[in-house]
Amino acid sequence: VTTLAGKKVALFGLGGSGFATARALKLGGAEVTAWDDNPDSVTKAAAEGIHTTDLRSIDWSAQSILVLSPGVPLTHPKPHWTVDLARAAGVDIVGDVELFVRERRAHAPDCPFIAITGTNGKSTTTALIAHILKSSGRDTQLGGNIGTAVLTLEPPKDGRFYVVECSSYQIDLAPTLNPSAGILLNLTPDHLDRHGTMQHYADIKERLVAGSDVAVVGVDDSHCEMIADRIERAGGKVTRISRRHALAYGIYADGTKLTQASGGATKPIADLDGIQTLRGGHNAQNAAAAVAACLAVGVSEEEIRAGLVSFPGLKHRMQPVARRGSVVFVNDSKATNADAAAPALSSYERIYWIAGGLAKAGGITSLTGFFPRIAKAYLIGEAAAEFAATLGEAVPYEISGTLERAVAHAAADAEEDDSGPLAVMLSPACASFDQYKNFEVRGDAFVSHVAALDGITMLIG
Ligand code: ADP
Repeated sequence: VTTLAGKKVALFGLGGSGFATARALKLGGAEVTAWDDNPDSVTKAAAEGIHTTDLRSIDWSAQSILVLSPGVPLTHPKPHWTVDLARAAGVDIVGDVELFVRERRAHAPDCPFIAITGTNGKSTTTALIAHILKSSGRDTQLGGNIGTAVLTLEPPKDGRFYVVECSSYQIDLAPTLNPSAGILLNLTPDHLDRHGTMQHYADIKERLVAGSDVAVVGVDDSHCEMIADRIERAGGKVTRISRRHALAYGIYADGTKLTQASGGATKPIADLDGIQTLRGGHNAQNAAAAVAACLAVGVSEEEIRAGLVSFPGLKHRMQPVARRGSVVFVNDSKATNADAAAPALSSYERIYWIAGGLAKAGGITSLTGFFPRIAKAYLIGEAAAEFAATLGEAVPYEISGTLERAVAHAAADAEEDDSGPLAVMLSPACASFDQYKNFEVRGDAFVSHVAALDGITMLIG
């Protein structure tokens, strides 16, 4: 970060992205003073030569900016004292994404920058866009909420493409976020604990697209529909996307077929049929958004189609990991509650379903509509008995107990079933903590149990 060279910068929050930001600021010649409520983080930062002081005791009038980690949102119900002190001294409060957009403005204002937000599908859409750009040979940087802190990416330069996933918190802390293409996928109630009301949450997300050169907005929910109308009325350029209905202007999915419409004219853009990593209506929405954003930054239809077909998918999210005959093995370990398991269950016709773990309130009662697709359920972890009771007479099941047993039994039963394409799928509708450290470790365990089966062809490296 060069835009703060020689300036005094206060930084609060030394988690992963906070740390990366402190490093980048220091490297760029800023005088950073960092702090965190966690003493271990402070010790670690100090060991790296980052100046650490409790921010209550610094001279706020000398600070040019306060950088907050996204974990410390401005909208926190009890404003943090650091925020109060900064505000009282008239110091700007920003996050790392704001520092990135200032760098871009200073050094390469024309380099294409795609920012993605929404309630669901952010990471998939972000990864898909980056994949399309990379596989077409473009210099592509992928980061933000998806993993890599934006300030650890290669610095902005002409011809370099940025694809950045933004959480509400990051948008909230980026007052001049003006991407070349901004995507708002969808808005459903979520994270209300931290943002108070749905309206406030929607307002924050709206800012990302309202400030974009091209606003790509999923119009399948009422909040987003109103947002698209509002941006257009204000003179903004909007590309609407829908997975539910045809549009007069925009990009919509009719089943697996993506179509571009402009007035009377329609044009087929791509067909997702047969692309394992983009199965299901939710992925049609993600793909439509990716197409719209890529077109907005000058990627050709041919390049887009090639990228869609070769998309490897994201780990643990409905990821096809292996094959044996007509059986595909799917890792959907990220589905830690019933709502998150629904897209996967709706995307396959006949499923040997591995579920269970630490149940959330409501269990799997909301999934009864998918029960006809389930050939048999293999229940693991603490939730097994509760899920068995919900399945009742409707679905054959066994209490497998462990994931290893569940994989072995599901694979053996699927092998005997010759009724066409089948999925053996881990989509647990539960947290993992009763048996695993986190959903990633659980998903990796699933993959290694699958890999150990006889005659298996792995689809991932
Ligand atoms: P996010 O980054 O917003 O959490 P991901 O791309 O990681 O979203 O997807 C997480 C899960 O959310 C997926 O496994 C799938 O079950 C569901 N999902 C993905 N895309 C969508 C979408 N467009 N609409 C609804 N649910 C989705």
